Amino acid sequence: MRIVIDKELCCASGECIKICPEKAITIVDGIAVIDDAKCDLGGICIPACPNEAIGYEEEEFGGCGF
Ligand code: SF4
Repeated sequence: MRIVIDKELCCASGECIKICPEKAITIVDGIAVIDDAKCDLGGICIPACPNEAIGYEEEEFGGCGF
């Protein structure tokens, strides 16, 4: 599981950056980007986003066909 930011919705307000305790978010080319290596998955940034652009994304697992 990881936290993802919808590039279409992100308005680069910087609210997530201000609230992130791990300093895992930066603005790159006008869009917020999360450093997965720093993110603790706490999710504090999710309600902080004024555009609801941040959320959890379940990782996709490779199937074995069954
Ligand atoms: S989940 Fe927590 S650590 Fe990860 S980017 Fe959001 S506020 Fe930062």
